[in-house]
Amino acid sequence: MITIALPKGRIADDVLDLFARMFDCNFAFVNRKLILQYDNFRFLLVRSQDVPIYVSYQAADLGVVGLDVLEETGVDIVRLLDLKIGQCRVVLGSKMNENINYDKPQIKIATKMPNITRNFFSKRAIATDIIKLYGSIELAPLVGLSDAIVDIVETGNTMKENSLKVDEVILESSAYLIANRNSFYSKKCDILDIYNKLKILVDTN
Ligand code: AMP
Repeated sequence: MITIALPKGRIADDVLDLFARMFDCNFAFVNRKLILQYDNFRFLLVRSQDVPIYVSYQAADLGVVGLDVLEETGVDIVRLLDLKIGQCRVVLGSKMNENINYDKPQIKIATKMPNITRNFFSKRAIATDIIKLYGSIELAPLVGLSDAIVDIVETGNTMKENSLKVDEVILESSAYLIANRNSFYSKKCDILDIYNKLKILVDTN
């Protein structure tokens, strides 16, 4: 039995579609069920931020999750394959017609991703006050809560609509197939079989 944690939310449909094509079957979680059994596989539907946790604790052997979430959670797992879906960028952004003032003793950054933000600025030895928010990050610089934001951008429309610009791209992200380290050794044949099938689908897309 192989257990695979799949993410709810934005990339859910693309991921389910990919696995449906791999198994050549119709594939859906129904009636709010969070577990789907198919053949020798068990799929878990979890929040994307929780996928690395399920995999690192071996509640799931495999998982699919965005690189941004992986970098933010920082767990020890095996990164197997870039699935080339859910592409987005983690960026540093600020108000359209202003530059970030790096002469200040400390720069205020609003973000959902404090770890990625801390790593990025500590490499540059820039002092920051990281303000953790849970949504509508784009609002923070507009009302003076922060000097800049670190946020996810897909089309760039939300930032543009709110008169913000991208100052720097911190990370190019897409969804990855990940594996638990122990599972990767103990179930290597099954996992490599899934890896190979997915790789063919990804390469021919
Ligand atoms: P967009 O206007 O397409 O650039 O989307 C930006 C908004 O959607 C921001 O508020 C982001 O936080 C959110 N967003 C975009 N892509 C993702 C993603 N892959 N995962 C989570 N949130 C996202």
